Amino acid sequence: MEVVCPIDTQFAHQISFLLEPPSPLQVQEYFDELITSKQCDGIQVKPTNNYGKGVYADMDFEEGGLVLKDQMLVGMQHSSNKIDCLVCGCCFCFIGSTEIQIGRKLFLQGLGSPKDVCFNEKLESLMHEKLELPYSKKFPLPGVINCPGGCKEVYYCSKSCAQTDWDFCHSLLCTGEGSSNKALSKFIQHANETNDIFLLAAKAISCTILKYRKLKAACDNETDKEKNHLSDLLGDHSFGLLLKAWNPLLMGYKRRWWDCVALPDDVDVSDEDSFRMQIRLLAFESLELLKAAILDEECLPLFSLEIYGHLIGMFELNNLDLVVASPVEDYFLYINDLPEAEKKEIDEITQPFLDALGEDYSACCQGTAFFPLQSCMNHSCCPNAKAFKRDEDRDGQATIIACKPIKKGEEVTISYIDEDLELEERQALLADYGFICKCPRCVNGEV
Ligand SMILES: [Zn+2]
Ligand SMILES: [Zn+2]
Ligand SMILES: [Zn+2]
Repeated sequence: MEVVCPIDTQFAHQISFLLEPPSPLQVQEYFDELITSKQCDGIQVKPTNNYGKGVYADMDFEEGGLVLKDQMLVGMQHSSNKIDCLVCGCCFCFIGSTEIQIGRKLFLQGLGSPKDVCFNEKLESLMHEKLELPYSKKFPLPGVINCPGGCKEVYYCSKSCAQTDWDFCHSLLCTGEGSSNKALSKFIQHANETNDIFLLAAKAISCTILKYRKLKAACDNETDKEKNHLSDLLGDHSFGLLLKAWNPLLMGYKRRWWDCVALPDDVDVSDEDSFRMQIRLLAFESLELLKAAILDEECLPLFSLEIYGHLIGMFELNNLDLVVASPVEDYFLYINDLPEAEKKEIDEITQPFLDALGEDYSACCQGTAFFPLQSCMNHSCCPNAKAFKRDEDRDGQATIIACKPIKKGEEVTISYIDEDLELEERQALLADYGFICKCPRCVNGEV
């Protein structure tokens, strides 16, 4: 069944502007400003040929040196991971306490299954911090702040994180009080049942709408003279503002989701067309639900299937796994390292919880995020850098470390795939990214 999105047809002209690759000058200006504002002094982003771009070292890095800490543009914790870890919905650090993390996880996991009543009571006490575990104070976490909209779906580490997320996107996506929350819940449920990447696309669209509104309000306050100047410059005034709000996303995308998504192993090549059609249909279903929830008449082109497909395609091709290590692991390692006599005593309290948690006791926060600078790094099968979280990196930022010495002016590369694979396997995986690798290893035909 062919899907036709009416907004695609009606706003074809505007959509083509939103999807036009930025000029090398626009790329340079955007990234220079981003690097300055985020104080990422060690690198530069430069446009390359064919509308590509790359990251270059602006200083020498030693092996193991920190090349970049990159703040995400949009990111999310996977829905399935929300039982395992309670993290801040903005910066993704763990929140609450060791007690809350352990009690909440075991309590939520045990829901529905008949368990030891006494143990369940203990879990509730843990969750509500009425039961204190020995030495837990050595692993302090920031307190739990509720969403200002009262949705009980997302929590924060601080008032400032709550406010930042609210202003950035959550005010449109909060299922707390509000008229559209039923429609929103339907959209969220659909995403959770199909592909939670739709939640990230909704964040990207929401943040663009909110930024557009901010720009518009600022313009309304400008003097008439300046306003006229802007209108002349942009032709259609409002659309110019929408383009500006969209700019950070414009820098990232390349292909539509249903065109770039890798064909799963269990789908036969002869069924490829119908598979891609199904993906497109799924995206359209999700988009219709999102429209019912947060449509903004002034930002209609953002709700086109073309834009939705490009956004998800961009996440598919560029996102980095969001991983934050759990403090629960640190806690149990500490208990395990106590002197034998004391450990025996403490184990009596902690061991039942550790047993109940099982092998999965140290589950980390897992999600996916788009990082504006990291996503500019090109692939190499012999990369000089890698995404790697050090012990101290306990939030949602991406950390890029040099895995070889890098000289000033050299391109910084990472591997998009497992670089230990053989040539043929690497090439097959990289084909999903839409390019043929020309790194020294591939050019020399090395396995
Ligand atoms: Zn936070
Ligand atoms: Zn909320
Ligand atoms: Zn290669």
